Amino acid sequence: MPDWAAMATSDQLNSASATIDLLQHLIRARCVNTGAADSGHEHRAVDLIGAVIENTGAEIERYEPIPGRVSLVARLRGSDPEAPSLCLMGHTDVVPVDEAGWDHDPFGAELITDADGRTEVWGRGAVDMLNLTSAMTIAFATAAHRRDRLRGDLVLFAVADEEAGSVHGAQWMADHHRDAIATDYVLTESGGLHTGPSDAPRISVAVAEKGVAWRRLRIRGVPGHGSRPYRSDNALVTAAAVIDRLARYRPTPRLHEMWQHELDGLGLDDETRARLMDPGGIDEFLAGLESDGLAAHLHACTHTTMSPNAVHDAVSMKTNIIPGLVEIDVDIRTLPGETDDDVAQHLRSALGDALYGRVEVETLINHPASMSRTDTALWDAIATAVSHPFPDATLRPHFMVGFTDARVMRQLGAVAYGAGLFSPEMDPAEFGQRFHGHNERIDIESLALTTEFYERVITGLVM
Ligand SMILES: [Zn+2]
Repeated sequence: MPDWAAMATSDQLNSASATIDLLQHLIRARCVNTGAADSGHEHRAVDLIGAVIENTGAEIERYEPIPGRVSLVARLRGSDPEAPSLCLMGHTDVVPVDEAGWDHDPFGAELITDADGRTEVWGRGAVDMLNLTSAMTIAFATAAHRRDRLRGDLVLFAVADEEAGSVHGAQWMADHHRDAIATDYVLTESGGLHTGPSDAPRISVAVAEKGVAWRRLRIRGVPGHGSRPYRSDNALVTAAAVIDRLARYRPTPRLHEMWQHELDGLGLDDETRARLMDPGGIDEFLAGLESDGLAAHLHACTHTTMSPNAVHDAVSMKTNIIPGLVEIDVDIRTLPGETDDDVAQHLRSALGDALYGRVEVETLINHPASMSRTDTALWDAIATAVSHPFPDATLRPHFMVGFTDARVMRQLGAVAYGAGLFSPEMDPAEFGQRFHGHNERIDIESLALTTEFYERVITGLVM
């Protein structure tokens, strides 16, 4: 392990190479979150991040709600209690991999140069979001050298368990140590992608995200012997009907305020835009789109979605037993303004009254959609930081269909954005596929841009 503490306290700190180096170590730390409480092992990432900042003068605390699930909070105190405070929040866990789909070791963190001369760091977490967490850590360490200039507090929050719903991470911290992480402003994933013409790019900043309403549907039947199925009440057969109805459900579209911002950023011609703003025509338009990925994104932006993604048998599935109990986990994502009652209504509409009556609904996770306004000092600091490498760029408020820990910080009252800064060559569609996908990797130009971007935002907002 390199001596990051020495690097971070040396005047010759080379931010970009330190970010690359830390990213490689974090990928190799394999903090894989399977959703099981004993997975993640984020203490390994926290040890690495702690080593970077331990001699910087920051106040450092570690929190461990259950063994191994460690989050770290480091704070540099500003001189002016009235000045705005900023939290850099990066999660340290990653999702599991299917190694067979990868061209290189997903935990090797190899630096590989392709035929176009582009050098990339390969590995799980390279875009979600160890790249940003590394850049945040290095930017924090760099700011620590100049901490006599800090007016507002600067916080680094390296958080566990983002990928499985934050129960052992941001949500636990919000419930138990709110004061440790509460700041006026928060930066987290993702954002920073270029769209539009190269001479006047629009840079995405994630300002809003859909709600999460994970539900477990419990379906009961009557257990019996598999040799006598006639007139049986087989829970699996009923579950199949439930899954089929969920998959075929077509809720009406809702063209909320964030949808208009999202469309503004896509640079569409007038006719396409008009069709996407027509509640009576958008579904037909999406059905005719050639690109599956684009259609899925535009659909998710404008519809409540329900995806039945896991089935459990609460007893034991066996070939000769008619099952008496089956559970289906449904990933439901809600639009701005939708409540618990709306989720129940969607389920009832999807299943129909008779089937809905056969189902017990358990809430697994419930977070409404969240949004932060854009008339803020952080927004202005981001615009200034982006304009340094890209003088003709403008910012584009982005609506995320996935969820991040930003929702937790917004609940605490913070203005939270997803923001980084990527190379203009990074194609947003391809970037999206690398999230949780095979062959996740990040180019070193983007790592350098993001590190410098965070350093400039810190200077602009809290110094
Ligand atoms: Zn993430």
